Amino acid sequence: MEKLVEVEDLSVSYYSYRGVVHALNGVSLEVGQQETIGLVGETGSGKSTIGLAIVGLIPNPGRVDGGKISIDGEDLSGKSKDQMREFRRTKLALIFQDPSTALNPVLRIGDQLAEAFAAKRGISRKEAKKMAVDILAEVGISNPKVANQYPHELSGGMKQRVMIGMALTGNPELLIADEPTSSLDVTLQAQIMELLADVSKKKQMAVLLITHNIGVVSRYCERVAVMYAGNIVETGTTRNVLKFPAHPYTQGLLSAVKLGTRKQLTSIPGTVPDLINLIPGCPFAPRCSRVMDVCSKVKPRLTKVKDDQYAACHLYEGAMPA
Ligand code: SF4
Repeated sequence: MEKLVEVEDLSVSYYSYRGVVHALNGVSLEVGQQETIGLVGETGSGKSTIGLAIVGLIPNPGRVDGGKISIDGEDLSGKSKDQMREFRRTKLALIFQDPSTALNPVLRIGDQLAEAFAAKRGISRKEAKKMAVDILAEVGISNPKVANQYPHELSGGMKQRVMIGMALTGNPELLIADEPTSSLDVTLQAQIMELLADVSKKKQMAVLLITHNIGVVSRYCERVAVMYAGNIVETGTTRNVLKFPAHPYTQGLLSAVKLGTRKQLTSIPGTVPDLINLIPGCPFAPRCSRVMDVCSKVKPRLTKVKDDQYAACHLYEGAMPA
C-alpha cells in the first residue's frame, strides 16, 4: 500500500502552570492511501495530539519539539501558516466529537456548506449552493429544507452528518475523525460509522480514526495503533492486535474491555503516567505485571513480533535501541 502520511519520531509538548507536558514522545506512524487506521488508548495518551499535529493545528501554548510529518512525500516542517492552510484546504479534513463546536450557530447549514465549497474549490456562490444541497444528500440528509435550518435545529446525529459533509467539501485525501461518535447513542454511532466507511470508500479517502471504541476499530479499521503516555506501544493489523495482543498494556486494555459490558476502553489498574515528570525506561513499567530490571532503565523501541505486528516491549527481541 502506498504511503499517504508518514509521522517520524514526533515529539510535542504543551506548557502548563505545573510545567512542560510531554504529550508525544517520539511517535512514528504511517497511514496508507485509502486506508482506515484506528488510534486507541486511554484519555491523555496523545491520540488527539497526533491528529492535530498532522493538520498543523497544535493549540497554544504547545509546540513540536522534534520529528517530521510528511504527506504524499511532502515534508510539512517549516511550512508557514498560509502554506499549511492551503494544505488543509486541498488534502486534509478533521472532524471532532462535538459537531456543535465546529458549526457556526448563526449561519444556516446550507450557507456554511456553500461557503466551505466556495473557499475550498474556488467556485461561484450559485454553484456552491447547489453543491451544498448535493453533499447533504450524500451524507444521508435528503430533505433539502435542512439547508435552510440553523445548527441548533438539528439533532446530534444530523449535525455530525453535516460535519462529515463539511469535511468532504475540500475532497480530502485524509480525514482525521476524533471520537466522531462518542456523543451519540449506540444506534446513531453505528449509522455515522457506516456513513464514514461508505464515503471514505466512494471518495477513496484515508481515515485516521481516533476512538475509545474497540468494537468500532474491529469493524472498520484495517490497522490499529495503541498509544500509551505519548508513545505508540503496539501497532499492526487489527486482527493481529485484537486477537493476539503482544504488549502488556494492550493485553490489559483488551481484557478490561472483555470484562465490561460495552466495547469501550476503560482504565486498567495502576497510576496514570505523569507526562510532566517522565520516568526513564518503559513508560508502562509502574503498571506492568511483567516488568524486568531493564524496563526501568531503557525505553524499548517498536520491534516486529510477527508479520504486520510491532510492539515496544523488552519481552521481544529487537526492542533494545541500537
Ligand atoms: S518493556 Fe517491560 S515494563 Fe514495559 S511493557 Fe514490556 S515488560 Fe512491561
